[in-house]
Amino acid sequence: MEIYVLRLGHRIGRDQRISTHVALTARAFGAKGIYFTRSDKNLFESVRKVVEIWGGEFFIETTEWRRLLRSFDGLKVHLTMYGIPLPEKMEEIKKAQKVLVVVGAEKVPKEVYELCDLNISIGTQPHSEVSALAVFLEKVLGVVFNLSFENAKLKIIPCARGKKVLKVGDQ
Ligand code: SAM
Repeated sequence: MEIYVLRLGHRIGRDQRISTHVALTARAFGAKGIYFTRSDKNLFESVRKVVEIWGGEFFIETTEWRRLLRSFDGLKVHLTMYGIPLPEKMEEIKKAQKVLVVVGAEKVPKEVYELCDLNISIGTQPHSEVSALAVFLEKVLGVVFNLSFENAKLKIIPCARGKKVLKVGDQ
């Protein structure tokens, strides 16, 4: 299955840090790429820098959300605390080849609830787009502990204490 993320809304200044975390979470948990509805040069550069150093094929780009939601040729899943609990729709989601998962920032327009195939909750309490996305990706893809990122310049060697980082090419 291929999963793409749509970050709906991004307030320059206010959302920079959390939007960066949404993008890095998408990448680290196995999504193919992320669409933003607004460009942010610094944020895009910092995410692309992570990809350059830590590897993988992850993309970050801007889109017009209505056009993407109308043209996406897979299952469109909007994460919202008002939706149907994920376990109830897991079977349907797992059948999809391609999924676009939508997470909000500010108030999400009503139209999004209609344009998406499923409105899904990760618990029925308010929390965060980062946690909602991480739980969704891990429940649906379940690859966070198995992913390998090609062409990385740096690789972490897991260790019990301290930090071990290998420069690829060095031994
Ligand atoms: N205030 C906004 C609204 O009313 O639409 C939502 C703000 S919330 C911090 C940002 C995003 O986190 C939401 O758009 C949703 O994608 C995600 N989110 C927060 N809690 C969630 C939950 N329990 N289940 C699924 N997604 C959730």
